[in-house]
Amino acid sequence: MISKTEIDDLNEQFRRAPSEDVLRWAWNRFETRAAIGTSFQGAGLVMIHLSKIHDLPFPVFTLDTGLLFPETSELKKRLEDFFGMTIESQEPDISVEAQEETQGPELWKRDPDLCCTIRKVLPLQDKLSNLDCWMTGLRRQQSDTRSDVDVVEVYVFDESTGREIVKVNPMAYWTREAIWKYIHDYQIPYNPLHDQGYRSIGCWPCTKKTLANQIDERAGRWTGFQKVECGIHTFMSKKVDFQI
Ligand code: SF4
Repeated sequence: MISKTEIDDLNEQFRRAPSEDVLRWAWNRFETRAAIGTSFQGAGLVMIHLSKIHDLPFPVFTLDTGLLFPETSELKKRLEDFFGMTIESQEPDISVEAQEETQGPELWKRDPDLCCTIRKVLPLQDKLSNLDCWMTGLRRQQSDTRSDVDVVEVYVFDESTGREIVKVNPMAYWTREAIWKYIHDYQIPYNPLHDQGYRSIGCWPCTKKTLANQIDERAGRWTGFQKVECGIHTFMSKKVDFQI
């Protein structure tokens, strides 16, 4: 149990602290009950690098929907070599082909929420059911929906049991410019699609290039739909009724 007072104190402290302090706190508190989840956007790469150079051996996982760009799958292998670690792929229960049989072809064109639930949210729930702390690369600057993320947040993972999970966003205050300077300074492998105009990269059917005049980094995701989040960051309720 983590109290509201502690959360408030941590967020005040971490607002000005380097991300490695946040990572070290999470490691000291949760060790391998914490894991980094990444889709290999820039912030996730920096977070993994910071963990490595500060000797904080968090497990790392990614959600492999079966609909990733070939460049993204190739990047995973390059990162495993670069960091000298295995990145676990968390996959849906059903293949893309099986989904077509039960839901019809190209579900993402008709019901992207359902497609994301099957291919992202449920696999993530499986993974989180074995963790106490989920580390993400969310940044405030990414989009309006992320503009108020805190460094440390607590969510109710299971309403029926009240089980909670701590979500830690060590990169919350990083700018896009700082992320890319770090990646270039340390020559960390990154997705070559970024150099072709894709600022945020997800599944190939739902990712378009971002136009130069679009401020929202995630504007290229689910174009033509009201959808702005896949659901992995919105399926849990933020815990407000803390026990102090
Ligand atoms: S991003 Fe698109 S293809 Fe990927 S799971 Fe969601 S709806 Fe399906």
